[in-house]
Amino acid sequence: MKITYLGHSAVKVEVSNKIIYIDPFLSGNPKAPITADQITSADIIIITHDHGDHLGDAFSIAKRTNAWIVSQYEITVLANENGIQKVEPMNIGGPISVEGIKIALTPAWHTSQTGGPTGVIVQALGKTLYHAGDTGLFSDMKLIGELYKPDIALLPIGGRFTMDIYQAVKAVEFIRPKYVIPIHYNTFDLIKADPEEFKKLVGNLSQVVILEPGETFNY
Ligand code: ZN
Repeated sequence: MKITYLGHSAVKVEVSNKIIYIDPFLSGNPKAPITADQITSADIIIITHDHGDHLGDAFSIAKRTNAWIVSQYEITVLANENGIQKVEPMNIGGPISVEGIKIALTPAWHTSQTGGPTGVIVQALGKTLYHAGDTGLFSDMKLIGELYKPDIALLPIGGRFTMDIYQAVKAVEFIRPKYVIPIHYNTFDLIKADPEEFKKLVGNLSQVVILEPGETFNY
């Protein structure tokens, strides 16, 4: 499983010969290492919620690449209204299989205009990734840890709209992933956070992997 950080909460996941984008916010993302139109190939695009910094370029990339849009029901309806037919509607609950990749939506404590916000579990080749979306801390993260045993957790640490570094440490305690990749910080002044301080606080609970935009983590 290869995870490339695209800044903010945007990631590219390559696994099982498939290319997955989660929350591909590139246009208007000052940290994005690539532009949306540089993405010419994708199989699946997962959207955690409809805020502009997450929905981002999802629809234009889907149109160009013919990738599946996977999201909660209301966002797939929005995709339909934007001329995209290739959608996999779902909701918080049991996993579905798309192109051989297992995908489940998890709760997220946040807001949104189109349906509810979510996090997402992506499983393939016996490896499990959890992208928390935008969320505050919640104790059911323990349940996510118990049910899916994520190897890698992508957790927002920027505060204000999501968990801050102290709350994200508690989330690591709840989820117990092998690796943690901090996301949703330092894109804008409003979500300033120190990932090195976060890493220090996590200590030996988990291995914190700080990725610069454009960097890839192989697992
Ligand atoms: Zn949001």
